[in-house]
Amino acid sequence: MDALRVKAIARAAGASAAGIARAADLEEFRRFSEAVIMVPSGLGYLNRDPFKRKNIKKWYAEARSVLVCAFRYWTPDRDYGAELAKAGAPAAYLAGSGRWANQRELVAAPGAKISRYVLGRDYHLTVKEKMAAMLEEIRKESPAADGKIFCDTSPVMEKELGRLAGIGFRGKNTLLLSRELGSYFFIGGMALNFELKPDTPSEDSCERCDQCVKACPTGALKNGKLDPSLCISYWTTQAKLPIPAGIAEKAKGFAYGCDLCQEACPQNKAPGQTAPGFEPIKK
Ligand code: SF4
Ligand code: SF4
Repeated sequence: MDALRVKAIARAAGASAAGIARAADLEEFRRFSEAVIMVPSGLGYLNRDPFKRKNIKKWYAEARSVLVCAFRYWTPDRDYGAELAKAGAPAAYLAGSGRWANQRELVAAPGAKISRYVLGRDYHLTVKEKMAAMLEEIRKESPAADGKIFCDTSPVMEKELGRLAGIGFRGKNTLLLSRELGSYFFIGGMALNFELKPDTPSEDSCERCDQCVKACPTGALKNGKLDPSLCISYWTTQAKLPIPAGIAEKAKGFAYGCDLCQEACPQNKAPGQTAPGFEPIKK
């Protein structure tokens, strides 16, 4: 099976974009390992198995190539206010969709907002189901093929692999940014036990823009890096401590996640379709 066929299977299973990266040492690991020393306690998982992130073969010894997929969950034609209203009271919505609200006072406040990515089913489940369907299809055509799936929770440098697979580049808000899809997409992938021709890595950048940096109300974005101790999204979804008052008062209503740097990004204005399965939860 060749790379074109693998990517066609990925698209047929619902990926908005798909690319192939080599299973090899990642230069980006050095920057990651320097940055991770300073992470707050809520991100301590980043320090678990750090060396597995250097090379996906340390996580899955049979890896010979990596399929990386993007699943778009938001497009500009969707009405955020209307979908928030349909979701109802944030506290009840979060509890009912299996999420834990860390900052309960913010969630209970009038006009509380939840991030766009939370309006659908838990993406870890949906992405893993889609990736499993792809692996099954690959194995139907190539019975000796095998793979190991990742989505957010494995010690895998997903954004860098996405860049190497040609999906997009790192925006100044630190997210993977695609000229076609913007940044409202989830990443899923799998290490595969057979060689595939890799895609051309993206060397693009958003050098002349700084809309996200200006839009971030807490100054969390600086020099292409994100300071989690200032990030509303970190405090509302991952931190185990109460959010500092100085950050809470700048949150502009965001009580679970924060979309302000993505709302400001001109790359998120491109029309298109969400990936099937990532629609809002029906009330
Ligand atoms: S998610 Fe919100 S607080 Fe965090 S960097 Fe983006 S705009 Fe700033
Ligand atoms: S807002 Fe501008 S600088 Fe920030 S990620 Fe988008 S394109 Fe890049």
